[in-house]
Amino acid sequence: MEKGYDPIELSRTVEKIVVRGEERKYYRVARPGRWYGGICAADCVGCNLKCVFCWSYFPRDHPDKAGKFYSPEHIYSSLKRCALRHGYDKIRVSGNEPTIGRRHLLKLLEYVDSDALFLFILETNGILIGYDKSYARDLSRFEKIHVRVSLKGASEEEFHKLTGAKPSAYQYQLKALENLLDYNVSFHPALMISFSSKENVSRLIERLAEIDSRLPGLLEPEYVILYPHVVERLKKTGLKPRIYFEK
Ligand code: SF4
Repeated sequence: MEKGYDPIELSRTVEKIVVRGEERKYYRVARPGRWYGGICAADCVGCNLKCVFCWSYFPRDHPDKAGKFYSPEHIYSSLKRCALRHGYDKIRVSGNEPTIGRRHLLKLLEYVDSDALFLFILETNGILIGYDKSYARDLSRFEKIHVRVSLKGASEEEFHKLTGAKPSAYQYQLKALENLLDYNVSFHPALMISFSSKENVSRLIERLAEIDSRLPGLLEPEYVILYPHVVERLKKTGLKPRIYFEK
């Protein structure tokens, strides 16, 4: 029996809590931020991983108690208002995992495309896109989208240590890259590199090159930010980041 939980099963459990028809739970609607040169974000509730370094705290661990349900239309119009007010050309859903609640996300992307005012940055762990190739196909219908797949560790073992999920589920993260490539969706991989050994990063770069020779050059490093609740979680697991940002 493999150690760790199954993120696909967790997705189903969380989806029952945070999705209601086309509506999805959010705990914050439309905040401006400096990332990507200026972007407005709506923060959704619920994830299919439990990363030790995650900055989302209550909405990830208590999806039943956090947030309220919103329609795709409400989220889009709030993001649009925020972006127009700040002169931004990008919007995103952040906070937790936006691919949970596929109908909601696809409808939101329809609004984004029909207006064609903004680029939507889909920040995802890629688990559901790797698990089900038709998710990548559905995303390929849209023009104004760029997907950022954040790899949680540079190997199966690191993934397990960082997320608590079963090591073999790391394959879904890598498979997401293949599926997005096959459907010609604009994307790039990112890597939470704070806890990775140099050897594992080198090996990951080889694995990425085997998928596509352009991927190593597109890999974006991510570093843990030591929020107080992240420091607490790290203490419990005994994990120590090599590189980090203080909060
Ligand atoms: S995938 Fe993202 S939102 Fe989910 S637990 Fe990990 S860091 Fe948090």
